Amino acid sequence: MHAEIVVTGSELLLGEIVDTNSTMLARMLRDIGLDLYYKTVVGDNRARIAAVLRLALERSDIVLTSGGLGPTVDDVTREAVADVTGRPLVFHQHLLDQIAARFARFGRPMSENNRRQAHVPEGAIILENSEGTAPGFIVEDMRGTIICLPGVPRELEHLMRTHVIPYLKRRLGYETIIFPRVLRTCNIGESQIDALIGDLMHGSNPTVGLAAHLGQVDIRITAKSSTREEAAQLIAPIEAEIRRRLGDVIFGTDEQTLEGVVYDLLEQRERTIALADSVTGGQVADLLRGVERQRILIADQRYPDAAALLTGLRLEDVWRRAGAKQVAEEAAARLRAESGSQLALALLGMLADSDNVPPMAYISLSDGETSITRAYRFGSENDLTRRWITVRALDMLRRYLLGIAPLDP
Ligand code: ATP
Ligand code: MG
Repeated sequence: MHAEIVVTGSELLLGEIVDTNSTMLARMLRDIGLDLYYKTVVGDNRARIAAVLRLALERSDIVLTSGGLGPTVDDVTREAVADVTGRPLVFHQHLLDQIAARFARFGRPMSENNRRQAHVPEGAIILENSEGTAPGFIVEDMRGTIICLPGVPRELEHLMRTHVIPYLKRRLGYETIIFPRVLRTCNIGESQIDALIGDLMHGSNPTVGLAAHLGQVDIRITAKSSTREEAAQLIAPIEAEIRRRLGDVIFGTDEQTLEGVVYDLLEQRERTIALADSVTGGQVADLLRGVERQRILIADQRYPDAAALLTGLRLEDVWRRAGAKQVAEEAAARLRAESGSQLALALLGMLADSDNVPPMAYISLSDGETSITRAYRFGSENDLTRRWITVRALDMLRRYLLGIAPLDP
């Protein structure tokens, strides 16, 4: 696809003004990669403009014209296009209304010949001109497309930027597409992330933004581009820098979920797991089992005092004896041995604070040789807290399976 420019105006031929419009148009076409083959300057003469347009349509796909859309008798581009394309000029009341409103705003009377500017060739795409009175228009003819723009440089540039360039980009087959890249983090707060990467959030392409969920924060890097490759190039250095600063709190990308990542790690490392959960109502097991294509064993006990039962203790006694940490550890170790799984995770906690004991949850992971146990304080007994503890437990598993240190509360 290639383009041609037809600049109209007798003053240009007389050397009274310098043609800067075609230079501006040429640069804008270059910037979107649309090849320009010809430029013609023609006077304000209907027959000669029509002749130039006929020739242009024969040899170019896109013809851009500048000038001759005004209200006076020497503004004849509209008529020339009608002649060449065989389309009558059609009156549009809403265009006249806009022109009238503009005159009213400037406190000037509108003259009868301004009606001419409310006419465009039949079937044309109208380019409404908020910078002046004359609208531009696009006529898609069998032989090629004529795009008519006003001569006043400011108006021409405005219509190019707002209407014509997007139109040409679509025609060239590269719409601006938005490519998102999401880095998923857990166990780090939104404000902590903000403090670490806030300076990267001021860019315009790509943009970087945060979306917080419970216990998890998504970092969304969004690039605008015409091709996937270019978007990837824009995103790569920002992603690398974010990874460098945040490290292993990033557990996944895009559509990945924490439970999905943990499940995949269990599968890759060929580990089965048993869970005893008296905290989250079975959320950890449900999430791991919710992952599609179940191929590994996830054993699950979820009565209120599952972990305590394993050790033969009543839950209340566990707390009173202040040995909850050991009980959790013991529960995980026994569960592992009794279930025959390679790993066991015990979640032990008391949500109700009956004896003024601060609500705590203990998460213990055993692989038969070592155990990792962490205590987490509960804010309150509710679904949000359960969800939050669930994220902690899954992240403990993830870190263990990756061989990296667990996060301290
Ligand atoms: P108007 O409604 O103002 O008459 P128009 O669309 O009919 O607009 P012209 O009459 O051709 O356009 O030009 C309007 C003014 O724009 C000219 O007087 C000139 O100052 C400027 N102009 C026109 N063509 C060019 C050009 N090619 N390069 C630079 N300036 C131009
Ligand atoms: Mg004019």
